[in-house]
Amino acid sequence: MQRNATSPDADWEELLHTKGLRATRAAVSALKSIHSMEKPISHDDLQLYLGQQNPSALVDSVTLYRILDRLSQAKLIEKVLGSDRIWRYTVAGERLHGFYECESCHQHFNLPRSSPLVTLLEQFSAQLKRKGDAAFAISFNIQGKCHDCS
Ligand SMILES: [Zn+2]
Repeated sequence: MQRNATSPDADWEELLHTKGLRATRAAVSALKSIHSMEKPISHDDLQLYLGQQNPSALVDSVTLYRILDRLSQAKLIEKVLGSDRIWRYTVAGERLHGFYECESCHQHFNLPRSSPLVTLLEQFSAQLKRKGDAAFAISFNIQGKCHDCS
């Protein structure tokens, strides 16, 4: 089931319900926003973003941590730890596509989807699944400097 950030809120609510989660307004906005991001986003940046999107529905820090925890547990999103020790959140499943991480500003960038490396990783992952070794997760990091920092 593919969803994008422009799906009506009812779709997001339904998705949360199917995972046994409460579809609060904050949970819907958090999930929707993470889906609209091209890169993993940290708790602080997400809180800032949500505040800018809708200043009247400001989510406090603790509530947002709880929401992110629940969404991760339900595997609706994934947590990625940067080398700066900051957790960032992204759409579940995107991890396979790997990231560049800028060692200066710690932004993450996804590998292009058409990269031969991504194709190889996907084939490898499919092979593991066929063998029944589905407990393996592939993670992959490249570090360097992004365009803004170099
Ligand atoms: Zn950078």
